[in-house]
Amino acid sequence: MEIDNPNVATGDDADKASYLIELQTQTALASQRAAAMPQKEQCKDGGTIVCCECFEPMNPARLKAIPTASSCVECLEAMGK
Ligand SMILES: [Zn+2]
Repeated sequence: MEIDNPNVATGDDADKASYLIELQTQTALASQRAAAMPQKEQCKDGGTIVCCECFEPMNPARLKAIPTASSCVECLEAMGK
């Protein structure tokens, strides 16, 4: 008697596999989206992070709120953002 029935075995496993693949895909997409976020390289003058637009030193409070900020508030507003 055949104990292994490939159809039954793979049917169940295929469901689990596709579920796992879907989870992995969603996770990958999420991290891709995070990586695709506009993250301009910050500009530095010596050791000081400066605005990439006007090259004035960045407001420390702004950097604390948005550590990846590459432009000062004034320049962002001037750019219409
Ligand atoms: Zn600026």
